[in-house]
Amino acid sequence: MKRKTKSISLPLKFPYFILPPVLTAIFPILSFYSKNISELSLKFLGKPLLYSIAATTVATLFASALIKNKNKASLIVFLLAFIFFSYGHLSQALNSKLFIQLPRGIVLGPDKILLPTTALLSIFLIIKTLRSKKTLAQIISFISVSLLIIVGYLTCTIIKNEYKKKGNSSTTTISLQNKTSVSQETMPDIYYIILDGYARQDILKSIYHYDNSWFVNSLRKMGFYVADAARPNYIHTYISLPSTLNMRYLDDLPQKYGINPVSNIAARQLIYDNEVTRKLRTYGYTIINFASTWEGTNESYQADVTYKSDEYFKVLGRNIALDETTIVFLQTTLLSPFIKEVWFDAIRARTLATLQKLPTVPLLKGKKFTIAHIIPPHPPYVFTAEGNPAPGTELEFSRESTDKYIDQLIFISNQILPVLQKIIKNSPNPPIIILQSDHGPSSLFGRSNEWSKNYSEEGIKERSSILYAVYLPDKNYRQFYDSITPVNSFRIVFNKYFEEDFPLLPDKTFYTDFEKLYEFKDITSIK
Ligand SMILES: [Zn+2]
Repeated sequence: MKRKTKSISLPLKFPYFILPPVLTAIFPILSFYSKNISELSLKFLGKPLLYSIAATTVATLFASALIKNKNKASLIVFLLAFIFFSYGHLSQALNSKLFIQLPRGIVLGPDKILLPTTALLSIFLIIKTLRSKKTLAQIISFISVSLLIIVGYLTCTIIKNEYKKKGNSSTTTISLQNKTSVSQETMPDIYYIILDGYARQDILKSIYHYDNSWFVNSLRKMGFYVADAARPNYIHTYISLPSTLNMRYLDDLPQKYGINPVSNIAARQLIYDNEVTRKLRTYGYTIINFASTWEGTNESYQADVTYKSDEYFKVLGRNIALDETTIVFLQTTLLSPFIKEVWFDAIRARTLATLQKLPTVPLLKGKKFTIAHIIPPHPPYVFTAEGNPAPGTELEFSRESTDKYIDQLIFISNQILPVLQKIIKNSPNPPIIILQSDHGPSSLFGRSNEWSKNYSEEGIKERSSILYAVYLPDKNYRQFYDSITPVNSFRIVFNKYFEEDFPLLPDKTFYTDFEKLYEFKDITSIK
C-alpha cells in the first residue's frame, strides 16, 4: 500500500495584508481601556474589539476583491481606520483653537472645518495609493511589525494591571447592629438628592456675583434647614459620596491602596454597597436609585428599583442603545461630532426624567430610601436658565464658563423646588429629604489639568463650599449646625428616627487633586 507522503502545506496562507487595518482598530480600544483601567472591567472590551476586527477584515477583503491588489487594499483600509480612530482626539485637541468667527455671532467649530479637511486628505491619499507603482510589501510589513509591538506591549500592561486590580477590590464593611425596638410606623421615607457641584450661597455671591437667596429662602419657607457654612468632607464625587453614604472618613483607602491607586474601584464599591443602604434595607426599606450618567450612581448602584431613561444613537434609522463608557470611547473616533450630542441628550433626558418621576415616588407602597444624583449644575452645560437645550461644549469647570454654570444652576434651582414641594405633599407621612451637593464648583482651579497651577486658598474655598439643606418630619433641627459636613447627616438621621446612637464626628474637609485621588490634605482650617 502506498503511503501519502506529500509535503504538508497549510490549507490557507495567513493573510498578512489584513494585519495593518485590524491592528489599527485594536490599538485604540486597548489604549482607551488601559487609560481607564481603574474604571472599566474587561467586559467592556468584547463588543468594540469584535465589531472593529470584523469591520476592518471585511472592508479589507472587500477592497482587495474590488481593486484586485491586496497590499493597496490593506493600505487604504489602514488609512481609513487610522482616521476613524484618531479623529475624535484631534477634534478634542483643537476644540478651542480651530474655529472661524462669522458675522452675527455664528461660530464654525472644529468639526465643520476638520471633517471636510479630513475627507479631502483621505481622498488624496487613497488616489496616491491606487496610482502607486510599488508593491508596497515593505511598508505593509513595517506597519504590521510596529503595530504588533505596540499592541503586544499594551496587552501585557493590561494583564499586569488587571492582576493588580484584583487585590484592590476588597472593601471594609462596618456592619452595625440595628435597634429592634424602633416602631416601624415612625420610619419615614428618606430622599437623598445630590445636585452635583452646587455652590454655597455666599460663594455664589462673592465669586459668581449671583444672588440665589430666592432659592435658599424658598427652601426655608418650605420648612428646610439650610446650613450657611457647610462644607464637604472630600472635594471629589468619587470620595465624597462614599464618605457620606458610609457615615465615616476614608483613611483606610490610602492606607490600603496608596495615595495614587491603580484603581478607584474600592471607593466606587463603597458607593454601590454602602452602610446607609445596608442599614435601611435591614429596617425593611426599598432602595430606589435614579440612575445618573455618572458611573458611581448609574445602573451599577445596588438598588432594588432603578429608574433610567435609555440613550439611543440612531444608525440608519435604527435606535442603538449605548452605555456611558461606549459613548466616551466613541467620542475619540470619527463619530465624535454625532456622539457628543448623544451624551448631552442623555444628561438632559435623565435630568428631566428624574425631575418628573421623583414626585411620584411617595405614592409607591412601603418604606423607601431614594437616591437621585442629578448632574446639573455640574458641567457639561446642557441647559439654559430657561431649560432649553444648551450646546454643552464646556465639559469642565473653568473661569470662562461661569455664566453657563449660573444658567444651569438657575435652571436646576427652579426645577427642584416644585419637585420637593410635591414630594412633601404626596407623602402620606412627612419624609426626610437631604438636598446636598457633593462638592463645590472650581472655576478658580480651572480644568482638571490646571489645578496644580491654579492652586490657591480662594480656589479651596470655592471647591469646598456646598449647598446643604435638610427637611425633617418634625422640623426640629436642633442637632444641625451651620458648619456641618455630610459625614454627620445620616448619623443624625439614624439617631433621631431609628434610636441609634452614633457619636457625631469632627467636621473635617480634605483636599485631593485628580492625580492622587487618595492623598488627603486636611484643609479644615481654610474657610
Ligand atoms: Zn460631583
